[in-house]
Amino acid sequence: MSKRDYYEVLGVKKDASAAELKKAYRRVAMKHHPDRNPDDKDAEDKFKEASEAYEVLSDEQKRAAYDQYGHSGVEGMGGMGGGGQGFGSFSDIFGDVFGDIFGGGGRGGRGGPSRGSDLRYTLDLTLEEAVKGTEVKIKVPTLVGCKTCGGNGAKPGTSASTCTTCGGHGQVRMQQGFFSVQQTCPNCRGKGKTIGDPCRDCHGQGRVEETKTLSVKVPAGVDTGDRIRLAGEGEAGADGGPAGDLYVQVHVKDHEFFQRDGRNLYCEVPISIFDACLGGELEVPTLDGRVKLKVPAETQTGKMFRLRGKGVVSVRGGAAGDLMCRVVLETPVNLSKRQKELLEELKASMKGQKNSPKQDSWFEGMKNFFGDLKM
Ligand SMILES: [Zn+2]
Ligand SMILES: [Zn+2]
Repeated sequence: MSKRDYYEVLGVKKDASAAELKKAYRRVAMKHHPDRNPDDKDAEDKFKEASEAYEVLSDEQKRAAYDQYGHSGVEGMGGMGGGGQGFGSFSDIFGDVFGDIFGGGGRGGRGGPSRGSDLRYTLDLTLEEAVKGTEVKIKVPTLVGCKTCGGNGAKPGTSASTCTTCGGHGQVRMQQGFFSVQQTCPNCRGKGKTIGDPCRDCHGQGRVEETKTLSVKVPAGVDTGDRIRLAGEGEAGADGGPAGDLYVQVHVKDHEFFQRDGRNLYCEVPISIFDACLGGELEVPTLDGRVKLKVPAETQTGKMFRLRGKGVVSVRGGAAGDLMCRVVLETPVNLSKRQKELLEELKASMKGQKNSPKQDSWFEGMKNFFGDLKM
């Protein structure tokens, strides 16, 4: 069975960059993914073909071998095993391709300079801080370049020497049946260098653990789930590789009065039976202090009032949302004898009047309900 050229499979030029490859693979894989094309053998084959092509071309060493020797140059290399490979779900694939965000970081285990891991930090904010923006200092345990050895891992005054097993290539060729297979050098584990006298502070790792203090500018309007990226503030790279990024994950704490939903704020305001009956002015909290809320006579409990523009401006801009106040009737407590008498009087005065239309219709409904059952 003849195989198609990997570049052709992904529809890219021979000199395509890593980003172009990733984009091309994403496009092809999305189109032919089995989840989207159930029971379509052709799509499944195309999907596998694209995955295989991307697996090879996204790996510098495999790509070089492929460019030089074609398909036979990469046969039997690390995990490829020639066909028969299954497919994961969307998230598996794209988690692998695009998700080098949390943990893992660069290319582990392949030796040579690799990018440091990205870090995640959860930042707890009050609602006020999130809405108005703030600047906070955070302490992040991370890996930084070792100052003693300058990150090369060798004891000061000494230096790393070229690996004698692989001659500095980091790769060795081994004969496996008919094929000559390239493998990571077992002596230097792909670094191409060995350290005779390791730095004492980092034990030859070139990186040390340190708790970094960072200042984070939190823009106004952020909400739980938003994240702030601090480029280059993740872990230091290995062997001189670039540092990873730090992602500050925003978490807004519960507020005494307000619940936030996007741009809108919600709060509950107690109302006395007198204000509810006669109408009145309530004092309600906003994030900028108190404001007056006029309620009309005969306001029922649970009624929602909207205060326009007293909500939140999103970090993405636009107009401020609204503050939604739900009034909740409060039954008076600690009544004196006289007050109880007045209420009795009031109650008597209401006899036979239509003061509680909802209650009346509710009782009517209940009568019918039980009446039907008894019959
Ligand atoms: Zn060191
Ligand atoms: Zn070596």
